Amino acid sequence: MTRVKKEVVTKTCPYCKGEGYFQLRLGGSETCNCCNGSGKK
Ligand SMILES: [Zn+2]
Repeated sequence: MTRVKKEVVTKTCPYCKGEGYFQLRLGGSETCNCCNGSGKK
């Protein structure tokens, strides 16, 4: 029985989901501070 870690495969930023920025409700976008806009962690 082999266990595969799925979480490690995709290292996308959990906060912006790999987008690199947040979509603001009022319009526009803001760069994610966690990944600095790269979308990766
Ligand atoms: Zn991010």
